[in-house]
Amino acid sequence: MNKIVSLCKRRGFVFPGSEIYGGLANSWDYGPLGVELKNNIKWLWWKRFVHRRGDIVGIDSAIIMNPKVWEASGHLSAGFADELVECRHCHARYRADQIDLKDACPNCGTKGDFTEPRLFNLMFKTFIGPAEEKADIAYLRPETAQGMFVNFKNVLVTSRKTLPFGIAQIGKAFRNEITPGNFIFRTREFEQMEIEYFIPAPKNEKAWGGYFDQWRKEMFAWIKEIGLDYGKIHEMEVPAGERAHYSKRTIDFEYEFPFGVKELYGLAYRTDFDLKNHQEKSGQNLEYTDPQTGEKYIPHVIEPTWGVDRSILAVLCESYNEDAERIFLKLPPKLAPYKIAVFPLLANKPALVEFAEKIYNDLRRDFSVVWDDRGNIGKRYYAQDEIGTPWCVTFDFDSLEDKKVTVRDRDTMKQKRVAIKDLADYFKGKLSE
Ligand code: ATP
Repeated sequence: MNKIVSLCKRRGFVFPGSEIYGGLANSWDYGPLGVELKNNIKWLWWKRFVHRRGDIVGIDSAIIMNPKVWEASGHLSAGFADELVECRHCHARYRADQIDLKDACPNCGTKGDFTEPRLFNLMFKTFIGPAEEKADIAYLRPETAQGMFVNFKNVLVTSRKTLPFGIAQIGKAFRNEITPGNFIFRTREFEQMEIEYFIPAPKNEKAWGGYFDQWRKEMFAWIKEIGLDYGKIHEMEVPAGERAHYSKRTIDFEYEFPFGVKELYGLAYRTDFDLKNHQEKSGQNLEYTDPQTGEKYIPHVIEPTWGVDRSILAVLCESYNEDAERIFLKLPPKLAPYKIAVFPLLANKPALVEFAEKIYNDLRRDFSVVWDDRGNIGKRYYAQDEIGTPWCVTFDFDSLEDKKVTVRDRDTMKQKRVAIKDLADYFKGKLSE
């Protein structure tokens, strides 16, 4: 893990947040390469689940919502609170379910001197307007899901979808986590990709089970798409007592991170819990009318949810390789921040530089490309391998004659000559493999 964190900082994937002020514990900023990787993951997801399907549409809802939303969703009641204990000596707080109250405080070592467990709400509070008064309290959303529920009717009417259909959203969520840590695995500000998939009110168990199974398969298809090894994925059927307050069935998809097997994604059957409560609290009719039968009912919901940051971390862990000669990130090419690096063999030969620059500029129309003319070729390959660039293109003296360049593959380190005029098609082909 330390190697990954250090590579991320060294090469500009992820920086410690607010670093020049000594940082802010467990906050991280994505750098130039990190934001490319993140956007590639989000874009791939959007393409797969929104653009390539006729039954899902996207939205982008506000982070600060009417506080009544959180009353209806159950987040303002005990359901979204963790039980905490505090060490009376050093005031460090721990989740009651993660510590033995007879043990020594992991922070200061004082033996067994903890407060009684108390509920602690995970939502970030803020104030709207100039006065910090109770009436103006608002919250940063702890999940993107509620944005989809409160817009259900708007989307239904404007998109003219019929059940089953889904609403997708990618966006930030905030949780005042008690035990953040493990780099970007658990932070207080993170990003989610979520789908609320609305289904007809099930007449029997089988009716929702079929949709649940379809989404289970979709989770695996996505896991494959971003190059994670199935062997490192563990499906955990969450027992009734441990499920979220709204869920009738939950599967956690866990991944073997270097610090343990931990939740990567989740899949939950949220029943009609959310829409029913919003209908009750808002007084608005959120029913769906079956176009064939005229029957009116509140749809039920299957919710697959993906953490963006945990996706990035899993992809980095999966891709990290090192041998005696090099460190290389074996990123799936569609996720790599740069697809291609272009080099002139020698930086001090204007003819080579001029032609290489032309190739660089041409390829940039279709791909994310980086230029490098520092040091020798070996060093440049090393630097590109470390950030996962799948292909390096070198313009050399032969290129002046044969109008071909050397394309070197990151994983096999094999080189081949490709005609300059065919380069764009060559890489398009490679990226669609
Ligand atoms: P955990 O049990 O790890 O706290 P959770 O079950 O509370 O997670 P969900 O409410 O299901 O998580 O959130 C959906 C997804 O959002 C998770 O599968 C995870 O990928 C991501 N996620 C949740 N909390 C965090 C966090 N604090 N930091 C980064 N990602 C998170």
